[in-house]
Amino acid sequence: MAITTKIIKRPKMTFWQQIYIPEIIRGVCITGGHFWRNLFFHTMHRFGLFKAVRAAVTIMYPEHKRPLAPRSRTRHRLTKREDGSARCVACMMCETVCPAKCIYIVAEEHPDPTIEKRPKSFDIDLGLCVFCGFCVEACPEDAIRMDTHILNLAAYSREGMKLNMNELLDPNPNYTVQIDPKRP
Ligand code: SF4
Ligand code: SF4
Repeated sequence: MAITTKIIKRPKMTFWQQIYIPEIIRGVCITGGHFWRNLFFHTMHRFGLFKAVRAAVTIMYPEHKRPLAPRSRTRHRLTKREDGSARCVACMMCETVCPAKCIYIVAEEHPDPTIEKRPKSFDIDLGLCVFCGFCVEACPEDAIRMDTHILNLAAYSREGMKLNMNELLDPNPNYTVQIDPKRP
């Protein structure tokens, strides 16, 4: 099949575009418009007026955190049975469906004869994860969820992005990045 190439010429800038001044004025008008609009409505809200009209606010992150929607996909966790053990039956569905191939499970026999298997180890490499949620969708046991609302996922090394089974079973909601002692 013949491949045709269409050459698109870069449009020439007009004189007014080249001197930028109208664009700068336009930008200042847009920013100023938002500023005065928000100032007006926030002042009106103080007096109980125009409550139905929303005005923008700045959230001082990380001191103040915005509430997340209940269905937000955040850091993974493994759910537990009543005895505290993982619900996971090591069926490998999540590992198979994961498009980033960042779930690593080693299975072993479960001591309870009514349950076939359990994970000996269960690791997720968050450095590779794309947060698609397929693992949660695929799980037949509701054993993995992404509802911790933990967004602080940074680390100083690739190794630090890997979660092991203990971290997945008991996620620390107050986790903060550990300073790497090797860093200068
Ligand atoms: S959210 Fe997607 S990419 Fe991340 S572990 Fe689950 S299936 Fe893999
Ligand atoms: S799909 Fe669910 S039960 Fe199967 S290995 Fe993954 S977490 Fe465990």
